[in-house]
Amino acid sequence: MSQLNKFKISLPLAKNSANWRHWWIYVGLGLALSISISGNLCAADLKFSESEPGEPGVGWQNSPFLKSEIPLITSWGDPNDEEKEPKNLLPPPIDAQYTIAPGDTLRQVLAKFDIGRIETARVIKSLSKTFKPRNLRPGHRLILQIQSPLPPETQKKLVSIDFTADAKTDIAVIRDGRGDFVAQRHNRELGRRLAYGEGIITSSLYQAGADEGIPARALINMIKVFSFDVDFQRDIQQNDEFALFYERLTDETGTIAEIGPVIFARLKLRRREVKLYRFKLKKGEIDYFDNQGRSVKKFLLSTPTDGARISSGFGRRRHPILGYSKLHKGIDFAAPRGTPVYAAGNGIIEIAKRYGSYGNYVRIRHKNHYKTAYAHLKGFGPGIKSGIRVRQRRVIGYIGSTGRSTGPHLHYEVIYKNRHVNPRGVRIPTGIQLAGKEYKRFKAERKKIDRSMILLRKKNATDAKIDNY
Ligand SMILES: [Zn+2]
Repeated sequence: MSQLNKFKISLPLAKNSANWRHWWIYVGLGLALSISISGNLCAADLKFSESEPGEPGVGWQNSPFLKSEIPLITSWGDPNDEEKEPKNLLPPPIDAQYTIAPGDTLRQVLAKFDIGRIETARVIKSLSKTFKPRNLRPGHRLILQIQSPLPPETQKKLVSIDFTADAKTDIAVIRDGRGDFVAQRHNRELGRRLAYGEGIITSSLYQAGADEGIPARALINMIKVFSFDVDFQRDIQQNDEFALFYERLTDETGTIAEIGPVIFARLKLRRREVKLYRFKLKKGEIDYFDNQGRSVKKFLLSTPTDGARISSGFGRRRHPILGYSKLHKGIDFAAPRGTPVYAAGNGIIEIAKRYGSYGNYVRIRHKNHYKTAYAHLKGFGPGIKSGIRVRQRRVIGYIGSTGRSTGPHLHYEVIYKNRHVNPRGVRIPTGIQLAGKEYKRFKAERKKIDRSMILLRKKNATDAKIDNY
Protein backbone atom coordinates (compact mmCIF):
# COMPACT_ATOMS: atom_id res chain seq x y z
CA MET A 1 0.00 0.00 0.00
CA SER A 2 2.96 2.33 0.46
CA GLN A 3 3.18 3.01 -3.25
CA LEU A 4 -0.19 4.63 -3.04
CA ASN A 5 1.32 7.60 -1.30
CA LYS A 6 3.04 8.54 -4.50
CA PHE A 7 -0.28 9.39 -6.07
CA LYS A 8 -2.20 12.48 -5.65
CA ILE A 9 -5.75 13.20 -6.60
CA SER A 10 -6.87 16.71 -6.87
CA LEU A 11 -10.43 17.67 -7.47
CA PRO A 12 -11.11 19.90 -10.40
CA LEU A 13 -12.12 22.72 -8.11
CA ALA A 14 -8.79 24.33 -8.79
CA LYS A 15 -9.18 27.58 -10.67
CA ASN A 16 -7.58 27.80 -14.03
CA SER A 17 -7.33 31.20 -15.60
CA ALA A 18 -8.03 30.01 -19.12
CA ASN A 19 -11.16 28.24 -18.02
CA TRP A 20 -12.51 30.57 -15.42
CA ARG A 21 -15.63 31.15 -17.43
CA HIS A 22 -16.52 27.58 -16.63
CA TRP A 23 -16.31 28.03 -12.90
CA TRP A 24 -19.90 27.02 -12.42
CA ILE A 25 -19.19 23.63 -13.90
CA TYR A 26 -16.24 23.12 -11.61
CA VAL A 27 -18.48 23.80 -8.66
CA GLY A 28 -20.94 21.19 -9.89
CA LEU A 29 -18.24 18.79 -10.86
CA GLY A 30 -16.41 19.22 -7.57
CA LEU A 31 -19.57 18.48 -5.66
CA ALA A 32 -20.29 15.49 -7.82
CA LEU A 33 -16.79 14.07 -7.50
CA SER A 34 -16.63 14.55 -3.77
CA ILE A 35 -19.85 12.62 -3.49
CA SER A 36 -18.39 10.13 -5.87
CA ILE A 37 -15.22 9.60 -3.87
CA SER A 38 -16.92 9.29 -0.54
CA GLY A 39 -19.45 7.01 -2.13
CA ASN A 40 -16.76 4.84 -3.60
CA LEU A 41 -14.81 4.67 -0.39
CA CYS A 42 -17.82 3.09 1.20
CA ALA A 43 -18.72 0.87 -1.65
CA ALA A 44 -15.09 0.13 -2.54
CA ASP A 45 -16.01 -0.54 -6.10
CA LEU A 46 -13.35 1.64 -7.69
CA LYS A 47 -10.13 0.06 -8.76
CA PHE A 48 -6.94 2.06 -8.75
CA SER A 49 -3.73 1.30 -10.54
CA GLU A 50 -0.49 2.98 -11.43
CA SER A 51 -1.30 3.75 -15.02
CA GLU A 52 -0.24 6.63 -17.19
CA PRO A 53 -2.51 9.64 -16.91
CA GLY A 54 -4.56 9.97 -20.01
CA GLU A 55 -3.66 9.86 -23.64
CA PRO A 56 -1.20 12.21 -25.20
CA GLY A 57 -2.46 14.52 -27.85
CA VAL A 58 -5.92 15.30 -26.53
CA GLY A 59 -4.90 18.05 -24.22
CA TRP A 60 -4.39 16.37 -20.88
CA GLN A 61 -0.95 17.96 -20.63
CA ASN A 62 -2.72 21.25 -20.22
CA SER A 63 -5.27 19.94 -17.81
CA PRO A 64 -5.80 22.22 -14.83
CA PHE A 65 -6.01 19.07 -12.77
CA LEU A 66 -2.39 18.13 -13.39
CA LYS A 67 -1.11 21.50 -12.34
CA SER A 68 -2.70 21.58 -8.94
CA GLU A 69 -0.33 20.96 -6.06
CA ILE A 70 -2.96 20.34 -3.45
CA PRO A 71 -2.85 16.74 -2.27
CA LEU A 72 -6.47 16.31 -1.44
CA ILE A 73 -6.35 12.56 -0.98
CA THR A 74 -3.09 10.72 -0.45
CA SER A 75 -4.12 7.34 0.83
CA TRP A 76 -7.06 5.17 0.40
CA GLY A 77 -9.30 2.79 2.24
CA ASP A 78 -8.68 0.22 4.84
CA PRO A 79 -5.99 -2.40 4.11
CA ASN A 80 -8.14 -5.00 5.82
CA ASP A 81 -10.97 -4.28 3.47
CA GLU A 82 -12.84 -7.34 2.30
CA GLU A 83 -12.00 -6.37 -1.25
CA LYS A 84 -9.14 -8.57 -2.39
CA GLU A 85 -7.94 -6.55 -5.34
CA PRO A 86 -5.30 -3.89 -4.76
CA LYS A 87 -6.67 -0.37 -4.85
CA ASN A 88 -4.97 2.14 -7.02
CA LEU A 89 -5.78 5.66 -8.02
CA LEU A 90 -7.62 6.54 -11.18
CA PRO A 91 -5.57 8.70 -13.49
CA PRO A 92 -6.77 12.30 -13.68
CA PRO A 93 -9.42 12.94 -16.29
CA ILE A 94 -8.31 14.06 -19.72
CA ASP A 95 -9.31 17.50 -20.95
CA ALA A 96 -10.34 17.56 -24.56
CA GLN A 97 -11.96 20.00 -26.94
CA TYR A 98 -13.94 19.44 -30.05
CA THR A 99 -15.47 21.95 -32.46
CA ILE A 100 -18.65 20.74 -34.15
CA ALA A 101 -18.26 20.47 -37.92
CA PRO A 102 -21.10 20.36 -40.46
CA GLY A 103 -22.90 17.02 -40.30
CA ASP A 104 -21.55 16.05 -36.85
CA THR A 105 -23.84 14.47 -34.31
CA LEU A 106 -23.08 14.23 -30.62
CA ARG A 107 -23.20 10.43 -30.95
CA GLN A 108 -20.41 10.50 -33.56
CA VAL A 109 -18.34 12.98 -31.57
CA LEU A 110 -18.45 10.89 -28.40
CA ALA A 111 -17.55 7.80 -30.42
CA LYS A 112 -14.42 9.66 -31.62
CA PHE A 113 -13.40 9.91 -27.95
CA ASP A 114 -14.01 6.18 -27.38
CA ILE A 115 -17.06 6.73 -25.21
CA GLY A 116 -19.22 3.60 -25.31
CA ARG A 117 -22.65 3.43 -26.91
CA ILE A 118 -24.59 2.89 -23.69
CA GLU A 119 -22.81 5.76 -21.95
CA THR A 120 -23.39 8.00 -24.99
CA ALA A 121 -27.11 7.19 -24.95
CA ARG A 122 -27.30 8.18 -21.28
CA VAL A 123 -25.42 11.45 -21.91
CA ILE A 124 -27.77 12.33 -24.77
CA LYS A 125 -30.85 11.48 -22.72
CA SER A 126 -29.66 13.70 -19.90
CA LEU A 127 -28.60 16.58 -22.18
CA SER A 128 -31.96 16.51 -23.96
CA LYS A 129 -33.63 17.79 -20.81
CA THR A 130 -32.00 21.20 -21.17
CA PHE A 131 -30.73 21.28 -24.77
CA LYS A 132 -31.73 19.25 -27.82
CA PRO A 133 -28.50 17.67 -29.13
CA ARG A 134 -29.72 18.13 -32.71
CA ASN A 135 -29.47 21.88 -32.11
CA LEU A 136 -25.68 21.60 -31.95
CA ARG A 137 -24.36 23.73 -34.79
CA PRO A 138 -21.05 23.92 -36.62
CA GLY A 139 -18.76 26.10 -34.51
CA HIS A 140 -20.13 25.00 -31.14
CA ARG A 141 -17.03 24.13 -29.11
CA LEU A 142 -17.38 21.19 -26.74
CA ILE A 143 -15.10 20.90 -23.72
CA LEU A 144 -14.94 17.33 -22.52
CA GLN A 145 -13.43 15.63 -19.52
CA ILE A 146 -12.82 11.99 -20.07
CA GLN A 147 -11.79 9.37 -17.56
CA SER A 148 -9.50 6.65 -18.86
CA PRO A 149 -10.36 3.22 -17.54
CA LEU A 150 -8.18 1.01 -15.41
CA PRO A 151 -7.38 -2.40 -16.80
CA PRO A 152 -9.05 -4.78 -17.20
CA GLU A 153 -11.78 -2.28 -18.01
CA THR A 154 -11.44 -0.76 -21.44
CA GLN A 155 -14.33 1.64 -21.84
CA LYS A 156 -13.61 5.32 -21.27
CA LYS A 157 -16.02 7.30 -19.18
CA LEU A 158 -17.29 10.80 -19.60
CA VAL A 159 -16.81 13.03 -16.56
CA SER A 160 -18.31 16.15 -18.04
CA ILE A 161 -19.11 17.92 -21.25
CA ASP A 162 -19.82 21.62 -21.57
CA PHE A 163 -20.27 24.22 -24.26
CA THR A 164 -21.58 27.70 -24.93
CA ALA A 165 -24.92 27.22 -26.63
CA ASP A 166 -25.41 30.88 -27.46
CA ALA A 167 -24.23 34.28 -26.28
CA LYS A 168 -26.35 33.95 -23.16
CA THR A 169 -26.35 30.24 -22.34
CA ASP A 170 -23.79 27.71 -21.17
CA ILE A 171 -24.77 24.05 -21.01
CA ALA A 172 -23.08 21.21 -19.17
CA VAL A 173 -23.68 17.54 -18.49
CA ILE A 174 -21.77 16.15 -15.53
CA ARG A 175 -21.52 12.74 -13.92
CA ASP A 176 -22.85 12.77 -10.41
CA GLY A 177 -21.85 10.68 -7.40
CA ARG A 178 -23.91 7.71 -8.45
CA GLY A 179 -22.57 7.76 -11.98
CA ASP A 180 -25.76 9.29 -13.39
CA PHE A 181 -25.58 12.25 -15.72
CA VAL A 182 -27.06 15.58 -14.75
CA ALA A 183 -27.60 18.39 -17.20
CA GLN A 184 -27.12 21.98 -16.11
CA ARG A 185 -27.88 25.30 -17.71
CA HIS A 186 -26.13 28.53 -16.78
CA ASN A 187 -27.52 31.80 -18.03
CA ARG A 188 -24.75 34.27 -18.55
CA GLU A 189 -25.20 37.83 -17.49
CA LEU A 190 -24.79 40.05 -20.50
CA GLY A 191 -24.04 43.70 -19.95
CA ARG A 192 -26.08 46.04 -22.14
CA ARG A 193 -24.22 49.05 -23.45
CA LEU A 194 -25.07 51.75 -25.91
CA ALA A 195 -22.92 52.57 -28.87
CA TYR A 196 -22.97 55.43 -31.34
CA GLY A 197 -21.28 55.77 -34.67
CA GLU A 198 -21.56 58.02 -37.69
CA GLY A 199 -19.85 58.29 -41.00
CA ILE A 200 -19.78 59.53 -44.56
CA ILE A 201 -20.19 57.00 -47.33
CA THR A 202 -17.31 57.38 -49.77
CA SER A 203 -16.95 53.92 -51.27
CA SER A 204 -19.56 51.75 -49.56
CA LEU A 205 -21.69 51.76 -46.45
CA TYR A 206 -19.81 48.73 -45.10
CA GLN A 207 -16.47 50.40 -45.65
CA ALA A 208 -17.66 53.60 -43.97
CA GLY A 209 -19.00 51.54 -41.05
CA ALA A 210 -15.78 49.57 -40.71
CA ASP A 211 -13.79 52.83 -40.68
CA GLU A 212 -15.86 54.00 -37.72
CA GLY A 213 -15.59 50.66 -35.89
CA ILE A 214 -19.25 49.79 -36.33
CA PRO A 215 -19.78 46.02 -36.47
CA ALA A 216 -21.20 44.67 -39.74
CA ARG A 217 -24.11 43.12 -37.83
CA ALA A 218 -25.18 46.57 -36.61
CA LEU A 219 -25.08 47.89 -40.19
CA ILE A 220 -27.21 44.98 -41.40
CA ASN A 221 -29.74 45.80 -38.68
CA MET A 222 -29.72 49.41 -39.83
CA ILE A 223 -30.33 48.42 -43.45
CA LYS A 224 -33.30 46.33 -42.29
CA VAL A 225 -34.75 49.25 -40.38
CA PHE A 226 -34.52 51.41 -43.51
CA SER A 227 -35.56 48.65 -45.90
CA PHE A 228 -39.10 49.98 -46.29
CA ASP A 229 -37.94 53.38 -47.29
CA VAL A 230 -34.48 53.26 -48.79
CA ASP A 231 -33.19 51.14 -51.63
CA PHE A 232 -29.56 50.62 -50.71
CA GLN A 233 -28.79 49.53 -54.27
CA ARG A 234 -29.87 52.74 -55.91
CA ASP A 235 -30.60 55.51 -53.43
CA ILE A 236 -27.16 55.72 -51.80
CA GLN A 237 -24.72 58.18 -53.38
CA GLN A 238 -21.21 59.24 -52.60
CA ASN A 239 -20.96 61.59 -49.58
CA ASP A 240 -24.33 60.53 -48.14
CA GLU A 241 -24.18 60.48 -44.34
CA PHE A 242 -25.41 58.06 -41.75
CA ALA A 243 -25.60 57.84 -37.95
CA LEU A 244 -26.39 54.83 -35.88
CA PHE A 245 -27.26 54.44 -32.21
CA TYR A 246 -27.52 50.81 -31.10
CA GLU A 247 -27.14 48.34 -28.28
CA ARG A 248 -24.18 46.12 -27.65
CA LEU A 249 -24.31 43.13 -25.33
CA THR A 250 -21.03 42.18 -23.73
CA ASP A 251 -20.16 39.12 -21.64
CA GLU A 252 -18.18 38.97 -18.38
CA THR A 253 -14.89 39.36 -20.22
CA GLY A 254 -16.07 42.56 -21.89
CA THR A 255 -16.10 41.14 -25.40
CA ILE A 256 -19.10 41.83 -27.60
CA ALA A 257 -21.32 38.79 -27.38
CA GLU A 258 -24.20 40.11 -29.42
CA ILE A 259 -25.31 43.19 -31.29
CA GLY A 260 -28.57 44.51 -29.92
CA PRO A 261 -31.28 46.41 -31.72
CA VAL A 262 -30.97 49.73 -33.49
CA ILE A 263 -32.33 52.51 -31.24
CA PHE A 264 -31.96 55.35 -33.68
CA ALA A 265 -30.72 55.63 -37.21
CA ARG A 266 -30.32 58.59 -39.53
CA LEU A 267 -29.61 58.59 -43.20
CA LYS A 268 -28.89 61.83 -45.02
CA LEU A 269 -29.38 61.28 -48.71
CA ARG A 270 -28.93 63.87 -51.39
CA ARG A 271 -32.56 64.88 -51.53
CA ARG A 272 -33.95 63.81 -48.19
CA GLU A 273 -33.09 62.88 -44.66
CA VAL A 274 -34.63 59.90 -42.87
CA LYS A 275 -34.54 59.65 -39.07
CA LEU A 276 -36.03 56.65 -37.33
CA TYR A 277 -36.60 55.97 -33.64
CA ARG A 278 -37.27 52.61 -32.03
CA PHE A 279 -40.44 52.66 -30.00
CA LYS A 280 -42.42 50.05 -28.10
CA LEU A 281 -46.15 50.38 -28.55
CA LYS A 282 -48.54 49.88 -25.67
CA LYS A 283 -49.55 46.52 -27.13
CA GLY A 284 -45.92 45.45 -26.81
CA GLU A 285 -45.09 45.58 -30.50
CA ILE A 286 -41.79 47.27 -31.36
CA ASP A 287 -41.59 49.44 -34.44
CA TYR A 288 -39.61 52.32 -35.95
CA PHE A 289 -41.13 55.76 -36.33
CA ASP A 290 -40.06 58.99 -37.92
CA ASN A 291 -39.93 62.37 -36.12
CA GLN A 292 -43.67 62.83 -36.49
CA GLY A 293 -44.54 59.40 -35.12
CA ARG A 294 -45.33 57.79 -38.46
CA SER A 295 -44.53 54.11 -38.84
CA VAL A 296 -42.09 53.35 -41.63
CA LYS A 297 -43.52 49.91 -42.19
CA LYS A 298 -44.88 49.42 -45.64
CA PHE A 299 -47.66 47.24 -46.90
CA LEU A 300 -45.21 45.24 -49.03
CA LEU A 301 -41.46 44.81 -48.78
CA SER A 302 -39.75 45.93 -51.95
CA THR A 303 -36.88 43.49 -51.30
CA PRO A 304 -38.22 40.27 -49.75
CA THR A 305 -34.76 38.82 -49.01
CA ASP A 306 -31.54 39.92 -47.30
CA GLY A 307 -28.26 40.98 -48.83
CA ALA A 308 -29.51 40.54 -52.37
CA ARG A 309 -28.37 42.38 -55.47
CA ILE A 310 -30.80 43.25 -58.23
CA SER A 311 -29.62 41.24 -61.20
CA SER A 312 -32.48 42.16 -63.49
CA GLY A 313 -35.03 44.92 -63.22
CA PHE A 314 -38.65 45.21 -64.26
CA GLY A 315 -39.40 45.88 -67.92
CA ARG A 316 -38.50 44.80 -71.44
CA ARG A 317 -35.24 42.88 -71.83
CA ARG A 318 -33.60 40.13 -73.82
CA HIS A 319 -34.39 36.84 -72.12
CA PRO A 320 -31.14 35.05 -71.10
CA ILE A 321 -32.43 31.58 -72.01
CA LEU A 322 -35.12 32.12 -74.63
CA GLY A 323 -32.95 34.65 -76.47
CA TYR A 324 -35.71 37.01 -77.64
CA SER A 325 -36.90 40.23 -76.12
CA LYS A 326 -39.88 40.05 -73.77
CA LEU A 327 -41.34 41.84 -70.81
CA HIS A 328 -39.66 40.92 -67.55
CA LYS A 329 -42.64 40.86 -65.23
CA GLY A 330 -40.70 41.05 -62.00
CA ILE A 331 -37.38 41.82 -60.39
CA ASP A 332 -34.56 39.32 -60.05
CA PHE A 333 -32.52 39.31 -56.89
CA ALA A 334 -29.23 37.44 -56.94
CA ALA A 335 -28.16 35.98 -53.59
CA PRO A 336 -26.49 32.78 -52.41
CA ARG A 337 -28.51 29.58 -52.66
CA GLY A 338 -30.40 28.96 -49.42
CA THR A 339 -30.86 32.65 -48.48
CA PRO A 340 -34.29 32.98 -46.82
CA VAL A 341 -37.10 34.60 -48.80
CA TYR A 342 -39.77 36.48 -46.82
CA ALA A 343 -43.45 37.08 -47.31
CA ALA A 344 -43.52 40.68 -48.58
CA GLY A 345 -46.67 41.38 -46.61
CA ASN A 346 -49.47 39.82 -44.58
CA GLY A 347 -51.73 37.58 -46.64
CA ILE A 348 -52.92 34.12 -47.55
CA ILE A 349 -50.84 31.65 -49.56
CA GLU A 350 -52.59 30.84 -52.83
CA ILE A 351 -50.02 28.54 -54.35
CA ALA A 352 -46.96 26.81 -52.90
CA LYS A 353 -45.77 24.11 -55.29
CA ARG A 354 -43.72 23.26 -58.37
CA TYR A 355 -45.11 25.50 -61.14
CA GLY A 356 -43.62 24.90 -64.60
CA SER A 357 -40.77 27.17 -65.62
CA TYR A 358 -41.15 29.08 -62.33
CA GLY A 359 -39.77 26.02 -60.48
CA ASN A 360 -40.75 25.98 -56.83
CA TYR A 361 -43.22 28.81 -56.60
CA VAL A 362 -45.18 30.67 -53.92
CA ARG A 363 -47.95 33.17 -54.51
CA ILE A 364 -49.55 35.22 -51.73
CA ARG A 365 -52.85 37.09 -51.87
CA HIS A 366 -52.78 40.36 -49.93
CA LYS A 367 -55.36 43.03 -49.19
CA ASN A 368 -56.31 45.79 -51.65
CA HIS A 369 -56.15 43.49 -54.77
CA TYR A 370 -52.42 42.90 -54.45
CA LYS A 371 -50.61 39.59 -54.92
CA THR A 372 -46.90 38.76 -54.72
CA ALA A 373 -45.12 35.80 -56.31
CA TYR A 374 -41.74 34.19 -55.67
CA ALA A 375 -40.09 31.83 -58.17
CA HIS A 376 -37.12 29.45 -58.60
CA LEU A 377 -37.06 28.66 -54.85
CA LYS A 378 -34.80 25.91 -53.58
CA GLY A 379 -37.54 24.80 -51.20
CA PHE A 380 -40.38 26.04 -49.04
CA GLY A 381 -40.22 27.50 -45.54
CA PRO A 382 -41.44 25.47 -42.54
CA GLY A 383 -45.21 24.95 -42.67
CA ILE A 384 -45.66 26.83 -45.95
CA LYS A 385 -48.57 25.45 -48.01
CA SER A 386 -51.55 26.82 -49.84
CA GLY A 387 -54.40 28.16 -47.75
CA ILE A 388 -52.39 29.29 -44.73
CA ARG A 389 -52.17 32.86 -43.47
CA VAL A 390 -48.70 34.41 -43.30
CA ARG A 391 -47.39 37.58 -41.74
CA GLN A 392 -44.89 39.95 -43.29
CA ARG A 393 -41.31 38.65 -43.03
CA ARG A 394 -42.24 35.03 -42.44
CA VAL A 395 -39.78 32.73 -44.27
CA ILE A 396 -41.72 31.24 -47.17
CA GLY A 397 -38.80 29.64 -49.00
CA TYR A 398 -35.12 29.82 -49.91
CA ILE A 399 -33.29 31.18 -52.91
CA GLY A 400 -32.56 28.48 -55.46
CA SER A 401 -32.47 27.84 -59.18
CA THR A 402 -35.42 25.52 -59.86
CA GLY A 403 -37.39 25.78 -63.10
CA ARG A 404 -36.11 27.82 -66.05
CA SER A 405 -33.23 29.62 -64.38
CA THR A 406 -29.57 30.27 -65.10
CA GLY A 407 -28.36 30.46 -61.49
CA PRO A 408 -29.55 30.98 -57.93
CA HIS A 409 -31.85 34.00 -57.79
CA LEU A 410 -35.28 35.07 -56.66
CA HIS A 411 -37.74 36.17 -59.29
CA TYR A 412 -40.19 38.44 -57.47
CA GLU A 413 -43.45 39.70 -58.90
CA VAL A 414 -46.09 42.10 -57.65
CA ILE A 415 -49.51 41.74 -59.21
CA TYR A 416 -52.16 44.45 -58.84
CA LYS A 417 -55.67 43.66 -60.10
CA ASN A 418 -54.20 40.80 -62.17
CA ARG A 419 -51.58 43.01 -63.87
CA HIS A 420 -47.87 42.86 -63.17
CA VAL A 421 -46.50 46.08 -61.70
CA ASN A 422 -43.00 47.21 -60.79
CA PRO A 423 -42.36 46.04 -57.19
CA ARG A 424 -40.25 49.15 -56.64
CA GLY A 425 -43.21 51.36 -57.35
CA VAL A 426 -45.38 49.98 -54.57
CA ARG A 427 -45.09 52.32 -51.62
CA ILE A 428 -48.27 51.98 -49.63
CA PRO A 429 -47.71 52.77 -45.98
CA THR A 430 -49.46 50.65 -43.37
CA GLY A 431 -50.80 53.89 -42.03
CA ILE A 432 -49.81 53.64 -38.38
CA GLN A 433 -49.65 57.17 -37.01
CA LEU A 434 -49.07 57.58 -33.29
CA ALA A 435 -51.70 59.77 -31.68
CA GLY A 436 -52.85 60.99 -28.28
CA LYS A 437 -51.14 59.47 -25.25
CA GLU A 438 -49.12 57.09 -27.38
CA TYR A 439 -47.68 60.01 -29.35
CA LYS A 440 -46.86 61.84 -26.11
CA ARG A 441 -44.99 58.79 -24.86
CA PHE A 442 -43.15 58.60 -28.17
CA LYS A 443 -42.07 62.24 -27.94
CA ALA A 444 -40.68 61.68 -24.44
CA GLU A 445 -38.80 58.59 -25.63
CA ARG A 446 -37.46 60.47 -28.66
CA LYS A 447 -36.17 63.23 -26.38
CA LYS A 448 -34.45 60.69 -24.12
CA ILE A 449 -32.76 59.03 -27.09
CA ASP A 450 -31.63 62.38 -28.53
CA ARG A 451 -30.23 63.46 -25.17
CA SER A 452 -28.22 60.29 -24.55
CA MET A 453 -26.79 60.50 -28.06
CA ILE A 454 -25.64 64.06 -27.45
CA LEU A 455 -24.05 62.95 -24.18
CA LEU A 456 -22.24 60.11 -25.88
CA ARG A 457 -20.91 62.37 -28.60
CA LYS A 458 -19.83 65.02 -26.10
CA LYS A 459 -17.86 62.52 -24.09
CA ASN A 460 -16.46 61.32 -27.36
CA ALA A 461 -17.14 57.85 -26.07
CA THR A 462 -18.12 55.06 -28.37
CA ASP A 463 -20.25 53.36 -25.79
CA ALA A 464 -21.86 53.84 -22.42
CA LYS A 465 -23.85 51.92 -19.89
CA ILE A 466 -27.42 51.24 -20.90
CA ASP A 467 -28.92 53.11 -17.93
CA ASN A 468 -27.98 56.36 -19.61
CA TYR A 469 -31.04 55.92 -21.68
ZN1 LIG B 1 -37.00 37.08 -63.33
